[in-house]
Amino acid sequence: MAASQDRSLGRSGGIVAGESTAPATFTGNRALQLEEPLIFEMGQPGRCGVDLPEPPKVKDRLNGLRRTGDVGLPGLSEPQVVQHYTRLSQKNYAIDMGVYPLGSCTMKHNPRINEKVARLPGIGDLHPLQPVSTVQGALELIDALAHWLKTLTGMPAVAMSPAAGAHGEMCGMMAIAAALDAKGERAQRRIVLAPESAHGTNPATAAALGFTVKPIPANDHGRVDLAALKAALGPDVAAIMLTNPNTCGLFESEIVEISAAVHAAGAYFYCDGANFNAIVGRVRPGDLGVDCMHINLHKTFSTPHGGGGPGAGPVVLSQALAPYAPYPWIVKDANGWTVAEDGARVDGQPLGRLKAFHGQMGMFTRALAYIMSHGADGLKQVAEDAVLSANYVMAALKDVMTPAFEGPCMHEALFDDGFLKDTGVSTLDFAKAMIDEGYHPMTMYFPLVVHGAMLIEPTESQAKEDLDRFIGALRSLAEKAKSGTAAEDFKAAPRYAPRRRLDETLAARKPVLRWRPSNSLKQAAE
Ligand SMILES: *Cc1c(COP(=O)(O)O)cnc(C)c1O
Repeated sequence: MAASQDRSLGRSGGIVAGESTAPATFTGNRALQLEEPLIFEMGQPGRCGVDLPEPPKVKDRLNGLRRTGDVGLPGLSEPQVVQHYTRLSQKNYAIDMGVYPLGSCTMKHNPRINEKVARLPGIGDLHPLQPVSTVQGALELIDALAHWLKTLTGMPAVAMSPAAGAHGEMCGMMAIAAALDAKGERAQRRIVLAPESAHGTNPATAAALGFTVKPIPANDHGRVDLAALKAALGPDVAAIMLTNPNTCGLFESEIVEISAAVHAAGAYFYCDGANFNAIVGRVRPGDLGVDCMHINLHKTFSTPHGGGGPGAGPVVLSQALAPYAPYPWIVKDANGWTVAEDGARVDGQPLGRLKAFHGQMGMFTRALAYIMSHGADGLKQVAEDAVLSANYVMAALKDVMTPAFEGPCMHEALFDDGFLKDTGVSTLDFAKAMIDEGYHPMTMYFPLVVHGAMLIEPTESQAKEDLDRFIGALRSLAEKAKSGTAAEDFKAAPRYAPRRRLDETLAARKPVLRWRPSNSLKQAAE
């Protein structure tokens, strides 16, 4: 109790590791950046923000399992709760605050028209168990989005229900497994090829479905090594999972040859479409020989995401894979729009359901609003501007940082840590110093094929002067690092953040997932 009182009265020092340039404050607050304890540490016994009626007296039917101790909820007044969560919300960095250059994630602006449409009562207040006759418009909306996804990708079918990119991978690879099954080849084709630069979800998906993952090396230009791929293809290969543009921010220029080789070997081509933002409106993956591809609606077609949600990962499928698409799908007949569920009369062998209900309705609405408000010309410009922004960043930094590969990039600029060699500054230190400059770091140490990778995806939605300031900050940090005298400074960054360097290894190895009154203070400080 004494310890928690100390914490609530004066919190300066202690928690902040290393030396700070800012003077310690009595409260631990830094200007209007407020320190925040856990809500459990703030609670006082007997305090309550709501007025609940006494529970009715009922006979205990729990057969001795009735709780005897406290529930353990913190006791707080309503203003305390409101203030706590408002302070927490201000600790989040967000796409609505500034440049969010996290490569591979496409943290782009979410146009407010999307939100306006998603909040219309006829859409926002829907319940998935409403009778179909009362949700005709919603079903038509899903079908309209499906139409545009098929049109933009040049693919004949789409499964709308997967809830994220990784879930879409699962859906697509299950369709491939089902198609192999139907041909009697599932037992023989056990291998899934994945480039070394692949997003971790690709090998994870293949492994979760029981395939053996075989990595394909990259060539010196950051693309799939075609000769190595051809050598790996054989009667034991089920599919390749390939991202295009790839996670090095480069277009796989030999993609048509890759797909031809994969098909000639009797395997399928799964395309990870998470980077569709870079080519939407310009290239149709169907024309490149793709058999199926997920689309991260939350990346390419906006919707704020990160931190676990929300997402939507519809999967477009070729004619050959369409018969295995999961339930449900939307059909129109003489009675209007209906939902094809398990038991619907179909020619193929749908692989069952992947999730409850019909998919992420709010995301569908935002994606359709995004597509329709941009139009065909606007979507094409999205891709062009995303690529232009990344190349602008690349060109403006390439004399002080080291681009991982030569030549122009697609929608993200990839640097390695070559420019930090012998400076005593690592990629991690560099990223931490960006925080002091007010920038969320770029993606670090991914893709793995590049040493000390720094992957910057500016997206199409930042103004030029904001990119210029971002570039200016990175240039100044790079020059400072290369001066050879600033390593200490970098190691001490971030100096201005409420928390500085945390022991991430300890947090990963010994995560403290549960608050307990006795040990909270010590562990929270760690
Ligand atoms: C984001 C991403 C994924 C996974 O998508 P989620 O929606 O986060 O599940 C897969 N592959 C690549 C290349 C990605 O960038």
